[in-house]
Amino acid sequence: MRRMLVTGGCGFIGSNFIRLALEILSDIRIINLDKLTYAGNLANLKELEGDQRYRFVHGDICDHALIEKLFAAEQVDTVVHFAAESHVDRSIDGPAEFIQTNILGTFTLLEAARKAWVSWDTKTNLQSPAPSPRFLHVSTDEVYGSLGETGLFEESTPYDPRSPYSASKASSDHLVSAYHHTYGLPVLITNCSNNYGPYHFPEKLIPLIINNALNGKDLPVYGDGKNVRDWLYVVDHCTAILRVLQKGRIGETYNVGGNSEKQNIEVVQTICDILDEKVTDGLPRRSLIKLIFDLRCIDDQK
Ligand code: NAD
Repeated sequence: MRRMLVTGGCGFIGSNFIRLALEILSDIRIINLDKLTYAGNLANLKELEGDQRYRFVHGDICDHALIEKLFAAEQVDTVVHFAAESHVDRSIDGPAEFIQTNILGTFTLLEAARKAWVSWDTKTNLQSPAPSPRFLHVSTDEVYGSLGETGLFEESTPYDPRSPYSASKASSDHLVSAYHHTYGLPVLITNCSNNYGPYHFPEKLIPLIINNALNGKDLPVYGDGKNVRDWLYVVDHCTAILRVLQKGRIGETYNVGGNSEKQNIEVVQTICDILDEKVTDGLPRRSLIKLIFDLRCIDDQK
């Protein structure tokens, strides 16, 4: 049986991942460690209350005593690390929390995994306990910077983060990779494009635009709206993470995308057109679009 520590499982992607993993894997126990910041919501996994295969722990990934205790008590053999400060705008207004959680929090988890797993291998010189440990770090394609008019990010694309958020994620990716090269920690990294789907936090681009458009409010688009992002349905991202866990080669990075590159303005206009068709109140929703020029134009809206 896999004993999986999922961090940030009450957020958007983590909650979709836990639901999917428990649905398709029978032999699994999931410990969900979440600090319940503004982005975490216990109600996202309400239906799992009473499921013996699932345990929620309220706590911080920077709390090394708690993490070490969890590794020992639960005999954790797999980490799927989602917990992060994830909103680009917030990282511009207040970067400190991003450095703390995204870099130092990842470091804390790596250290706990190293102590729990690497010593098993090197001190006893035995095979790793079955199933083999895995540390899967969930990251973003924003570490590669901005997409041009054409082309895609590849695993070999040089890192070029543009915001405190993407710089903190880039830093955590490098730490994870370094723990593999230095200590032999069995890591995997996924870098995914923008997700959309159920349980998306209302301040993110797609839910924000839908809500505002339904309520006749302004539809904010940064810069000229020409920034290009790739979009992927969140459950497809979670399926890819499970696939990488099962089949991925230790130490590798896997880019995950939807092959669906769109300018932000195209996404917003498409939502307006769909809502105009569905809600027959005569309001032309494209007229609500407002271009905003400020610091947030340096990075992509998501
Ligand atoms: P989210 O903001 O919706 O959820 C983050 C979760 O982490 C929340 O439940 C929050 O309470 C928890 N958390 C925050 N700080 C914590 C801490 N110190 N200790 C424990 N828990 C903490 O984020 P998301 O959109 O679900 O993204 C999850 C991961 O996937 C992030 O690492 C993000 O970088 C990555 N990612 C997101 C996207 C996207 O489009 N949303 C795309 C690619 C990669």
